Amino acid sequence: MASIGFIGLGRMGHAMSRKLLEAGHEVWVFDINPAAVKSIAEHGGHAAASAAEAAGNRDFVVTMLPNGPDVEETLFGAPGVARAMSKGTLYIDMSTIAPDATDRIAARLAEMGIRMVDAPVGGTSEFAERGQLLILAGGAAQDVEAAQPVFDAVGRETIHCGASGAGTRTKLVNNYMSTALNTLTAEALVFAEAAGLDVMRTVKVLAGTTAGKGFLTGAYDRKIFSGDISPEFGLALASKDLNLALAYAAGLNVPLGVGAAASQVYAMSRADGFGPNDWSAVLETLRLKAALPGRSFGG
Ligand code: NAD
Repeated sequence: MASIGFIGLGRMGHAMSRKLLEAGHEVWVFDINPAAVKSIAEHGGHAAASAAEAAGNRDFVVTMLPNGPDVEETLFGAPGVARAMSKGTLYIDMSTIAPDATDRIAARLAEMGIRMVDAPVGGTSEFAERGQLLILAGGAAQDVEAAQPVFDAVGRETIHCGASGAGTRTKLVNNYMSTALNTLTAEALVFAEAAGLDVMRTVKVLAGTTAGKGFLTGAYDRKIFSGDISPEFGLALASKDLNLALAYAAGLNVPLGVGAAASQVYAMSRADGFGPNDWSAVLETLRLKAALPGRSFGG
């Protein structure tokens, strides 16, 4: 069993440190909120008087803090966690922070001879309570493997996303898509309600079509990921439908901001000449605007 320092006992960290204790690890915990520390001590954890005390001489040190500045301050500021860790400690940051912060932290720790894995998580605190988080790990393969006892206690699956920083970057891409989809979903339901539809019946329809099922494993997989942009559903026709919906919603005074932005992307894609191609070709238009090399289809 490992000795673990765990810093940050909020909604996520409180549940995760309890899962580590349940798995039989020795866990030293710290949070600026003494009540959280006391609560974990009641579950069998060791209450550390400072972040540095939690981090000293451990196999693993885990941080689960709100944001990058909190993590950098805890490591390199007055709390002095980086200095407190020994060379054999594997540091694991499971907070969701900016990629440049992860890169800075990993570089500074490497200079000190300390290995790091960035491992933000998918799933809410409810998943943390059940030890069912999805772990998105970035770092050297042997370090991600070495961190597995920690990940096994708090998660259901670990995905090694790539080199240092890839976990943080994957988390941001994932949350970009889920947070934007949340707004798009809400827009569609408000649109349905304003159009006088039975919203739950509309939900049933949406759940069974590309609207609800998404593109990753359906339309993109069959078409552009397979190097084929011949029209299964033509991009110009998709653009026409989107604009019909926007015009109708405008008449109902329903704001569709995500849809309006998407309409501009379809317009760009038509201007790029993809109108006669499959609607998945919006991916190629955005790749062109981002100046990415090569093509997303046809080799
Ligand atoms: P939270 O605000 O509930 O907890 C943060 C904890 O950190 C608090 O207990 C706070 O007292 C403590 N803290 C703040 N600064 C500190 C410092 N300098 N030293 C020690 N302790 C300090 O947040 P949370 O929901 O547990 O989220 C933690 C991280 O996990 C965030 O990066 C968040 O984006 C990410 N996350 C959250 C969820 C979720 O559903 N809550 C899901 C996935 C990822």
